[in-house]
Amino acid sequence: MDPVTESLNELHRRISALTGGEVASYIPKLAQADPDDFGIAITSMSGHRYQAGKADTAFTIQSVSKPFVYALALTDLGPDEMLRHVGAEPSGEAFNAISLEPGTGRPANPMVNAGAIATTALVKAADPAARSARILGWLSAFAGRPLDHDEDVYASEAASGDRNRALAYLMRSAGSLEDDPYSVTDTYFRQCSVRVTAADLAVMAATLAKGGLNPVTGERVVSQDVAVRTLAVMATCGMYDGAGQWLLNVGLPAKSGVAGGLIAASPGRFGIALYSTPLDTEGNPVRAVAALTEMSERFSLHLMHAPVHLTTTVTDTVHAARSSRARDSAQAAVLDRDPRRIAVVGAQGDLEFTETEQLLNAVVRATPATPGAMVLDLTAVTGISPGPATMIIATLADLQRRGHHVAIALQQPFLDQADGHPGSWTTTRDDAVAWCEDRFLSGEHPVGAQDIAPHSQ
Ligand code: GLU
Repeated sequence: MDPVTESLNELHRRISALTGGEVASYIPKLAQADPDDFGIAITSMSGHRYQAGKADTAFTIQSVSKPFVYALALTDLGPDEMLRHVGAEPSGEAFNAISLEPGTGRPANPMVNAGAIATTALVKAADPAARSARILGWLSAFAGRPLDHDEDVYASEAASGDRNRALAYLMRSAGSLEDDPYSVTDTYFRQCSVRVTAADLAVMAATLAKGGLNPVTGERVVSQDVAVRTLAVMATCGMYDGAGQWLLNVGLPAKSGVAGGLIAASPGRFGIALYSTPLDTEGNPVRAVAALTEMSERFSLHLMHAPVHLTTTVTDTVHAARSSRARDSAQAAVLDRDPRRIAVVGAQGDLEFTETEQLLNAVVRATPATPGAMVLDLTAVTGISPGPATMIIATLADLQRRGHHVAIALQQPFLDQADGHPGSWTTTRDDAVAWCEDRFLSGEHPVGAQDIAPHSQ
């Protein structure tokens, strides 16, 4: 057995013994669930799936659908329009609280029922049936398999859902809901009755943790921006009136549902889902809260925990590089005699702020004292965020102004975006160094060099 499954089994064994909490009964059908069922599932960023206990037991998604449908409406409307209809402030109230923003009637956030019903109404569709179908297809894309409805739970909630209908009518009278309240609530009940397992929910959470890319199917389900916003709302509002305490103790964006499901996303690491029906007074599954609290501590998952940078960004620094190009004896003599030096700094991995700061510090240290050439070998770099890209380009432009030739080697996809940037852009370190040598051999000064006097560091 692999070590992840082993440690999940161990956690599952211990937490199974925990009692306490009440199985939700206001939707009569939910009260029939087995309070002993307990499942845990994890999906990693590479799409590996781990599970322990009843991770394949089906239950209804309920409020765990809310962040995903929010992501759909956000994709349809864009962030500004979305915010006009549904706020993003934690309400500090119960999931079914009857409270709207004074004046506008806008619900506090999309994770409480009022906000979720308003969000469902914003999903673009020709009619209610098409809207339900679109939501089902959307949740299925997150799960990576076709999901269906639990018709019994749907009927049970529809027969007992007057409080949610009351919320919808209240929003309609306050002007924050345009659609027919009865029909919108019905679509919301169908959304809540989508049948999932903890294993499905773990893939759904992992898709958010991977910036909108489903790690199992490889499909991009939502944009990075929508995934980030969805996780942000989960972090502040996902755990209802227990949201603050949750952020303190566990520190992960999460969402619970009244049928016993709970998801949490550790961005860039994994999605986790737990299933256990007894709920605490805030409506969150008791065993799931205990298991995640322990896991967060054991694996330092808290969002505010400073990340450990395990890989070094700078792979090597060369102070006087030569290419493998065949040079005739006259050229070789020029290059040997030329006091100008070609420095190379190599880097690997994803370049975010911290990595780029390390890289550019290495560039400053390696820059030749007299105008020469600087090669950035970024061929082992797998990602460059927009801010870091601006920092790198500014550094190259500065080196060029100070009289250095600059060349950069990058993987082809990055090169395609290189138009108009300073220096030479190629796909290999050797080509970049050879390009600098060719400049020396032709006696060229870099374009844009204002000052080719020796530069002292
Ligand atoms: N369908 C449930 C309701 O609206 C969802 C609540 C929950 O899962 O917390 O009452």
